[in-house]
Amino acid sequence: MAQAAAKRAEELRRELNAHNHRYYVLDDPVISDAQYDLLIQELRGLESQYPELLTPDSPTQRVGGAAADGFTQVEHSAPMLSLGNAFNRGDLENWLRRTKGLVDDADFDLVCELKIDGLAVNLTYENGVFVQGATRGDGTIGEDVTQNLRTIKSIPLSLLEGAPARLEVRGEVYLPISEFLRLNEERTETGEQLYRNPRNTGAGSLRNLDPKVTASRNMQIWVYSLSGAAASVLVDGQITGHWEALEWLKSLGFRINPHNKICRTIDEVIDYYDSWVETRHDLPYEADGVVVKVSSLALQEELGVVGREPRWAIAYKFPAEQAVTRLLEIGINVGRTGSLNPYALLEPVIVSGVTVQHASLHNEEDIHRKDIRVGDMVTVERAGDVIPHVIGPVLSERPKNSIIFQMPSHCPVCSTGIVKPADEAMHRCPNTSCPAQFFELLKHFVSKGATDIDGLGERWCQILIDQGMVTDLAGLYTLKKDGLLQLDRMGDKLATRILANIELSKQKSLPRLLFGLGIIHVGSEVAELLTQAYDSIDEIAAATEEELAEIPGIGPKIAASIASYFQVDSNLSVIEKLRTAGVNLKQEPRQINTGDLSLAGKTFVVTGTLSGLSRGEAESQIKALGGKVTSSVTKNTDYVVVGESPGSKLASAERLGTKVLNEEAFAEFLANPLSDPGETGS
Ligand code: NAD
Repeated sequence: MAQAAAKRAEELRRELNAHNHRYYVLDDPVISDAQYDLLIQELRGLESQYPELLTPDSPTQRVGGAAADGFTQVEHSAPMLSLGNAFNRGDLENWLRRTKGLVDDADFDLVCELKIDGLAVNLTYENGVFVQGATRGDGTIGEDVTQNLRTIKSIPLSLLEGAPARLEVRGEVYLPISEFLRLNEERTETGEQLYRNPRNTGAGSLRNLDPKVTASRNMQIWVYSLSGAAASVLVDGQITGHWEALEWLKSLGFRINPHNKICRTIDEVIDYYDSWVETRHDLPYEADGVVVKVSSLALQEELGVVGREPRWAIAYKFPAEQAVTRLLEIGINVGRTGSLNPYALLEPVIVSGVTVQHASLHNEEDIHRKDIRVGDMVTVERAGDVIPHVIGPVLSERPKNSIIFQMPSHCPVCSTGIVKPADEAMHRCPNTSCPAQFFELLKHFVSKGATDIDGLGERWCQILIDQGMVTDLAGLYTLKKDGLLQLDRMGDKLATRILANIELSKQKSLPRLLFGLGIIHVGSEVAELLTQAYDSIDEIAAATEEELAEIPGIGPKIAASIASYFQVDSNLSVIEKLRTAGVNLKQEPRQINTGDLSLAGKTFVVTGTLSGLSRGEAESQIKALGGKVTSSVTKNTDYVVVGESPGSKLASAERLGTKVLNEEAFAEFLANPLSDPGETGS
């Protein structure tokens, strides 16, 4: 038995070390946290039953992973530890009983906090100024990520009055769920592999050698404690509890989670936990449990640390959100770049209050690695609000004669033979005129982050393609009102709006256009990087693969994809047609050249929030036509352009009888600047 235990412990250590490396160093785990927790619990069980099996390098004794190469290493002034776990009420009660016993049954308050699923950082301030930020690393040595942290707006660069000469705090940096979904939406569009969860995507974004990547991801922080070393600053008497320390940190300008709660009894702690088991899904970030901490700093010091965990705190984990159901079918979506995206069609099942019928299956490789087959009972997991995914099959319930999944050999939409580039996980339909691809591309081109052609939703994109009115992206710019009005259920108002927005789209910035073209691996971040290096689409098209790969943030794979896009004749011909149609292909919005500065002598005021373009963009378009823009409405103002919530300027215009143009009328006016727009109330 002891021999079998030793063998299993060895196996678990090896397996857990491999998972730790993927999770902490590569930010790319291959199993869920719940599965990881089961393995570590099993190892803990064996080590407590056979203490001789406990090795100093056991994953149960170590924190996190080693600091990655490329970052300067930082030695923490006090170790950054892990937390003990409770998985049920019994575990929590045992912890509390043990803790009380260790401090002679002293009474103490408990502070309950949400356990944010992000990345722990230590922030150092000198004379109120942020000087250094580091990741946890292996608990002793972390990575210096100061430059990246500086880009996170909720980390104060300087503190409010009352900051001591030196202060260290700890907090959790995280990627909001909305940002995670945005990034994955972009990746679906560019055909890149999807990020797995906000935690690891956030960790990867922070531990990136290019601070621009962190800056582009709208990360956030919740500060949750003073650092161990800094706690001594306060023992001078003013602040004696963790709760008071949090209040003080808030007064210095740190972002402290408003859901923190001080509790006197275990029942209050349980109530707090129970209330979050359900409502955590309403949070805009992921939380994987509740951290319960002894508030008294003196008792914290007395209780100290055992192994890698402080004795004065425990993480009461939320239950894993998994369910088992039958996999009815594996469906295939054809993405914009031709990628074949498999998804699971499931027998409906409720996972933490939500009915799940579809789940993501990533790619063929993943399906084979997990050995998922149609007809299997499969475990489905929901992480936060994120798309559910299939963890794997329940092999004991596998039906006889089940068949190993194979990607179709031909595109399910256009029947072209499928290709699989050797260095990619994705299968692709190589037919760029595949209707499924073009539909996705058109939807993407008109979307908000690209050319933002409002009014041209998914349905109309499909109709325009089906009717043969738009066969490539440039086809949008040949649409005429008469043609649109032939379409069933297309009214004059909508046709006018669509055409006006198509006209406005010609002036969108170069990064938006580049993003809209749907070049594989060119999301909005890469499009920005490209236009920082080049001023026009012609310059980008002329750049060699090697030159493109020299742009910071653009690797060889992206460079190859961009270069090959501009080698395809049909792509070049679309770009030429866009140019002829007057679409901006340069870095600065092109000046409208009507040959007639028809707005010369006219004065405009732009007020309120416009949805299709920024106020600045609207103003520069007026100026391009020779118009003048002022900030207040006077009797000399000819037109007031109004967006949402225009405020007092609209009232002034009405009082003075100035012509008012809403956004639609303004767009039409720009499309035909020689017309008199008359008046269109907002
Ligand atoms: P932990 O996540 O259980 O607890 C410690 C961490 O909690 C701290 O470092 C801190 O970053 C964080 N935290 C969040 N909110 C906090 C708050 N309010 N107060 C204090 N701390 C707070 O411990 P761990 O050592 O980071 O890692 C274990 C976790 O990582 C487990 O959930 C495990 O499942 C997961 N993991 C998963 C894999 C995998 O392959 N899926 C691999 C390794 C670890």
